[in-house]
Amino acid sequence: KKITIAIDGYSSCGKSTFAKAIAKEYGYIFIDSGAMYRAVTLYALNRGAVTVGKSVDAAKVVALLPAIKIGFQFNANVGRFETILNGEVVEDAIRTIDVSNLVSPVSAIGQVREQMVALQQVMGKEKGIVMDGRDIGTVVFPDAELKIFMTADPKVRAMRRFKELQEKGDNTTLEAIEANVRSRDHMDETRDISPLRRADDALILDNGNMTPAEQMVWVKEIMNK
Ligand code: C5P
Repeated sequence: KKITIAIDGYSSCGKSTFAKAIAKEYGYIFIDSGAMYRAVTLYALNRGAVTVGKSVDAAKVVALLPAIKIGFQFNANVGRFETILNGEVVEDAIRTIDVSNLVSPVSAIGQVREQMVALQQVMGKEKGIVMDGRDIGTVVFPDAELKIFMTADPKVRAMRRFKELQEKGDNTTLEAIEANVRSRDHMDETRDISPLRRADDALILDNGNMTPAEQMVWVKEIMNK
């Protein structure tokens, strides 16, 4: 019997990597909710509603929302799910340090969250989905059968993201990435609406010292129960 799996936790914990692996193993649909907030941020950045240096014009961002269409598509050529913004693949464009630095304030805007949560709930209507984010087990799918809350040391997380960006030819420094990871954690935890917190019924997974294979063993044991 297929279920809904909600994965929440801190920035750059490997939530998406883990969620993708689970989706592959069980034939589930994977939805990266963070990518949706990133896509809104990218669009707002391109339209001047937010600017690097942290100014976010909430009213302007909200005014742009009707023009933003977000979806996901599996690209068989590269073997990955890609985020589509108004018909365009933005999977890499939404992962830059500029978008990473602006996404927390954008995702703290009430109307942005309202629209994204509504879209996520539609996308996850059928069972057999695994969604990762910050408020999936608390707000989006409070009735999810399996909730996982992921965490790891900020330094370990920054190093992982650093290696990922290096592989893509993005030379952002480790220091800049660690600063981003820490400030996003802080903003995500202290915002007024749907702050990042563990759902009471979520299982904690600290994967700082775990390989992806070990995480799969951990989740399979739970899924088999
Ligand atoms: O998961 P990822 O790190 O890509 O998410 C980017 C940002 O989007 C987070 O730092 C957080 O501010 C926001 N987010 C959110 N709610 C979610 C997923 C992401 O507020 N469900």
